[in-house]
Amino acid sequence: MSEAGEGRGAPLAPFLRGLRGRCARCGEGALFVGFLKLAPRCPVCGYDLTTVDSGDGPAVFVILFAGFIVVFAALITELIYDPPVWVDLAVWLPIGAAVCLGLLRPMKGLMIAAQMRNRGERPPP
Ligand SMILES: [Zn+2]
Repeated sequence: MSEAGEGRGAPLAPFLRGLRGRCARCGEGALFVGFLKLAPRCPVCGYDLTTVDSGDGPAVFVILFAGFIVVFAALITELIYDPPVWVDLAVWLPIGAAVCLGLLRPMKGLMIAAQMRNRGERPPP
């Protein structure tokens, strides 16, 4: 119990590291080897990343956040300017895709960091 919080730094540090795509334990190693593919282990501290899996969690949160942002902005635009449908499609589809793609990797890193943080530290192999 006494070792549970030692060496972890600030309480938010693991989550901020995850948002940046860095290992939640050391803060240095890259979590990803591709856009969303996790590295098998942290290249710096050796944390086994095959034991963590974010599943569909990041996609769910991205859908919620991006849906709220884009749909709310499109609705306000529609009410104020009343543009033709093709303008809505030409503007909001690319923005929606960009917001989703922009949020997906940080959200996956955040969820991986939360799993790593809440499972506790594992000794290096
Ligand atoms: Zn690491």
